Amino acid sequence: MNSFLLNNDLIFAITNRFGGISKGCFSTLNLAYHLGDKEEFVRCNRQRVLKKMGIDDRILVYMNQVHGNDVVLVDELIIEKQQKEIEVRADALISSSLRVALLVVVADCNPILLYDKRKRVFSVVHAGRKGVELKILSKVLELFEQKFKSNIQDIYGIIGPGIRSCCYEVKQDVVDIFAYEQSLSQAIVKDNNRYFLDLLKPLCQEWHNKGANKEHLCIDFTCTACCAEYFSFRREKVCGRFGLIAARKH
Ligand SMILES: [Zn+2]
Repeated sequence: MNSFLLNNDLIFAITNRFGGISKGCFSTLNLAYHLGDKEEFVRCNRQRVLKKMGIDDRILVYMNQVHGNDVVLVDELIIEKQQKEIEVRADALISSSLRVALLVVVADCNPILLYDKRKRVFSVVHAGRKGVELKILSKVLELFEQKFKSNIQDIYGIIGPGIRSCCYEVKQDVVDIFAYEQSLSQAIVKDNNRYFLDLLKPLCQEWHNKGANKEHLCIDFTCTACCAEYFSFRREKVCGRFGLIAARKH
């Protein structure tokens, strides 16, 4: 993907489902504990990824993702040196610390990476349907401004693979929620009497509305439900999670 982040002081990766040790429906690189996979497999998978990225000395901060819009400022957490992993209840993490790696796990929801080049602050965001409804991306961008005095024009973003409108059919109840507000309603794709959602539209709208630079947003249009390389909740129901992991370079 875009090298602008790598060229500066951030290292990041979006994993797929290959290269791990998990079995069956979690095969093989499942990065989430909460699904019933063996804990030691997930721990090993995570360590493999961190090692490959050269950041296995970092404390991995990950989320108990609840489809809300809580954002945790990692720099304000009390982190013991010997901890290898920390779980926090949130749907976005933001940090300027060199000690941590941040992880968001997904299987159809959009993983988002944000980075302020000037202030050297980074964030990972879990933006599924609920997160988009709650405008979590806008909330994180506001926190960049409030807590780190970021200039929105300095922020770069990557939206990783997620379920796209080709596969994201929704029922009337969801259509009703999205039809209610103009910025959300543009996500609705009608095909005869069926409705599909394109969550990239409202996410791009949020990016624009916050005054961020269009050229600074990079989108992976891959549909996780179409592409067997990724875990997909819609396609598989019981499955693992792939991840977006990021850390600052020393
Ligand atoms: Zn698809």
